[in-house]
Amino acid sequence: MTTVVSKLPTADALRAQVRDALAAVGSTVALGEPGAGGLAASTPITGDVLFTVAPSSIAEVDAAIGEAAHAFSQWRVTPAPVRGALVGRLGQLLVEHKAALASLVTIEAGKITSEALGEVQEMIDICEFAVGLSRQLYGRTIASERPGHRLMETWHPLGVVGVITAFNFPVAVWAWNTAVALVCGDTVVWKPSELTPLTALACQALLERAAADVDAPTAVGRLVLGEREVGEKLVDDPRVALVSATGSVRMGREVGPRVAGRFGRVLLELGGNNAAIVTPAADLDLAVRGIVFSAAGTAGQRCTTLRRLIVHSSIADELVSRITAAYRQLPVGDPFDERTLVGPLIHTASYRDMVGALQQAQAEGGEVIGGERVDVGPDFEEGAFYVKPAVVRMPSQSAVVHQETFAPILYVLTYETLDEAIALNNAVPQGLSSSIFTLDMREAERFLAADGSDCGIANVNIGTSGAEIGGAFGGEKETGGGRESGSDAWKAYMRRATNTVNYSTELPLAQGVHFG
Ligand code: NAD
Repeated sequence: MTTVVSKLPTADALRAQVRDALAAVGSTVALGEPGAGGLAASTPITGDVLFTVAPSSIAEVDAAIGEAAHAFSQWRVTPAPVRGALVGRLGQLLVEHKAALASLVTIEAGKITSEALGEVQEMIDICEFAVGLSRQLYGRTIASERPGHRLMETWHPLGVVGVITAFNFPVAVWAWNTAVALVCGDTVVWKPSELTPLTALACQALLERAAADVDAPTAVGRLVLGEREVGEKLVDDPRVALVSATGSVRMGREVGPRVAGRFGRVLLELGGNNAAIVTPAADLDLAVRGIVFSAAGTAGQRCTTLRRLIVHSSIADELVSRITAAYRQLPVGDPFDERTLVGPLIHTASYRDMVGALQQAQAEGGEVIGGERVDVGPDFEEGAFYVKPAVVRMPSQSAVVHQETFAPILYVLTYETLDEAIALNNAVPQGLSSSIFTLDMREAERFLAADGSDCGIANVNIGTSGAEIGGAFGGEKETGGGRESGSDAWKAYMRRATNTVNYSTELPLAQGVHFG
């Protein structure tokens, strides 16, 4: 029997928490009562609408882009380390207001407190990274074939970056983009998920305070709220040099061609269908812990959630029984309760998708363990969706295994040879994250080699989720090919110029060409 934490906060208590958190970060935006019209700010904890907020009209989005474009003309010539001071101040404010912002993440996205605090920590980490980056935006000097010439590349700010984000990382993805874009000299217009407007208002308030504290133009970062039409305005506006969009493959299919059609730049971070291979040489204790966190954490609502377990047939029964035993111990319930490890699904549609996927898996020969809806106690209401994470043993890969269902479902497939396991890992259309559990270095290296995992992230002896900001984050195939966060992901936010300087008295042409 899954342990259930039984007391949920009331909608009124959550409203009071929202007001306190927004007041703490200095947000002065007016909140409307539920039913007042506008964008509904709901919580998956109880399923209630807590407030309404005013959505941005298309004219307001147009004005926000105009202001960000105007601010860009000043920001791009501000020295990068001075731009870094703004991001450094934002990082300090995030440290001060970590708990308040995390509480909003829990209220709007349903993350357990530890994960919500972790998400804000990720924002702090990327601010630190970006401050360092502000003194490391470098180009190369390249050997010229011509005497008395210098060949080099320089990196310049790109322009306005339109940032479109998903509900499940309501603050970290904005920070990954914004911290790096700002030190690169770009300005940002952010359209958060329509499901998480309150966390966005809090982030915006902190950015505006940081800008005021360091005398930076406030229009370096603008927020626009609303449904997809608001995002579409960013997608289609030629003043937006880069559209960095995080969300479903469906969204990416719409956004990618539209931005390409106007020759804008696009950075896509889309859905994943992540797998872990467990070989007979694995440390099974470690594997079980890594698998349970990756598959059931965040109630299966991470882009990097482990969705497919590819396990050697000789250890499949033991591994599945250990995972299902661990699942039975997972407390499901109020994400604010520190004992809880699995919070709610985001909304009705998400629950419906989970039920549909489990039915399809059964029809395709799967044996389903878990996955039931959980009644979490006296305050449980119809509109909230808590579920037991599911494990589904599949006879072979099938249609349902190839799709990303944004819920805690772990499909288990077996293999005989490592080649077969790697082929299974790579057989889906998405290519975000992957991992192998093995203590055999030949198996590990094979998984990381050119003919190994085809994903943007390939791990050894850790799960598929929980990336650090220092590496570039993103995936291949339908995941969209974008890279964000650390390493040299900053290059996506800048334009490169190749410069040749002739300091000689001659005018030799390249490739030995003579002209006149
Ligand atoms: P979603 O695609 O429904 O929405 C994401 C954002 O795109 C929202 O702000 C939405 O309003 C906007 N949007 C939707 N259609 C649009 C359009 N045609 N033009 C412009 N904007 C549009 O995604 P979601 O349900 O919020 O998030 C879950 C999905 O996001 C999952 O597929 C998950 O894997 C993915 N995700 C990926 C990453 C990553 O880094 N790869 C990170 C987080 C989430």
